[in-house]
Amino acid sequence: MDLQHWLGRATQAIQDWADTYGPYDTHPSLLVDEDRLTAAYGEFTDRLKDNYPFFHPRYAGQMLKPPHPAAVVGHLTAMLINPNNHALDGGPATAAMEREAVARLAAMFGYETHLGHLTTSGTIANLEALFVARELHPGRGVAYSADAHYTHGRMCHVLGVKGHPVPTDDRGRIRLDALEDLLRTGEVGTVVLTTGTTGLGAIDPVHLALPIARRHGVRVHVDAAYGGFFTLLAGAEGLAPEPWQAVAQSDSVVVDPHKHGLQPYGCGAVLFRDPDVGRFYLHDSPYTYFTSAELHLGEISLECSRAGASAAALWLTFQLLPPTPAGLGRVLAAGRRAALRWADLITASDLLTLYQDPELDIVTYFPTATPATLSAVDAASARVLAAGMAGPDPVFLSTLRADRAAFHARHPHLAPDADGARVLRSVLMKPEHEHHVGRLHARVEELAAGKP
Ligand SMILES: *Cc1c(COP(=O)(O)O)cnc(C)c1O
Repeated sequence: MDLQHWLGRATQAIQDWADTYGPYDTHPSLLVDEDRLTAAYGEFTDRLKDNYPFFHPRYAGQMLKPPHPAAVVGHLTAMLINPNNHALDGGPATAAMEREAVARLAAMFGYETHLGHLTTSGTIANLEALFVARELHPGRGVAYSADAHYTHGRMCHVLGVKGHPVPTDDRGRIRLDALEDLLRTGEVGTVVLTTGTTGLGAIDPVHLALPIARRHGVRVHVDAAYGGFFTLLAGAEGLAPEPWQAVAQSDSVVVDPHKHGLQPYGCGAVLFRDPDVGRFYLHDSPYTYFTSAELHLGEISLECSRAGASAAALWLTFQLLPPTPAGLGRVLAAGRRAALRWADLITASDLLTLYQDPELDIVTYFPTATPATLSAVDAASARVLAAGMAGPDPVFLSTLRADRAAFHARHPHLAPDADGARVLRSVLMKPEHEHHVGRLHARVEELAAGKP
């Protein structure tokens, strides 16, 4: 996609539309001096260089990458109008696009009925799901694995409900025996299952936890903010389908198109299987909702203003790379193959040790340190992280802190001389990583061997 061409088309398309309303003059208060703009813009683009190269395959750190050009063009074009998807009066076209894009997400998860909308983020989407859960089970708490996203604990605090972290097994998945013990107390009304934890990419066994939750009359929310689009690979390339298929039976699910859906930030989504939960969103706005008696997106959302441009970007992207195995699925499959391949290389390496087998596209590993202690692993991981960014042939990694018990479950030979240790973590979320893994591995091995 020639982005320059399409950005030109974007401004032209909106200008053509604007021209149909006749000419008018811009108010002098809004006019800016071209020379000052040139200077400010120069400073601005210079300052933006203070960034990591998220776009490049040598960036193999956090869950970060630029949006697809189709999303950029969709976002920018709609943003020139700046519709507000709070209400139909704020932008009928992008509100319709939001409904269509959300329906595709619901179909992807196998929901036969749904109520849902886009949100600013996965955190807000999870907050909405837990808010509805609290309304349905007042006075009861929320369970989530100890490896679940940290915002679940935070949002339980916001909602005034008790959060119950549940221990994880040696692959970072919620422990079902511990979950069942907790549910037997009757204190929990909702369990959050994560299909793809943010740290390790571990997949909670939704298909096994669901019947346990149902036996105890407990609601099931799936946090698929990071992992959701991997459902497109379920049953292919060795990814066990059962947890993903079971998501269709959950009560709510969250997915972040701004992670694996190729979107710019500002695009999460929450879906409820029972459309009737819309009744919990008390709403009486004196300002909005005058053009239609239909349910407005703002009536089923905790947020008020939301960018219509986010819906536009997602809608346009889905026209080209739909959430199907043959569309977006191919993009995710390449990243996952990269992760599995790197894990094989690390397993065969004398210089690096795999922390645990990857499930999705996150690889965790550490330099094979001597002495074999947690403090040596921690120091070596930190050194490789820093040296990787500083060198002439940079690689950008991230670290994850694992506690002593987590290490013991995976690497019992390491002497526990500290509370825990950092390991290296690479999210291989760009399909280009597939063809770059050999170079990444060679470079990280060099760093582990102490070469600059
Ligand atoms: C990223 C993430 C979140 C939070 O989403 P934001 O969009 O960053 O607010 C929640 N849960 C999981 C599993 C995530 O990976």
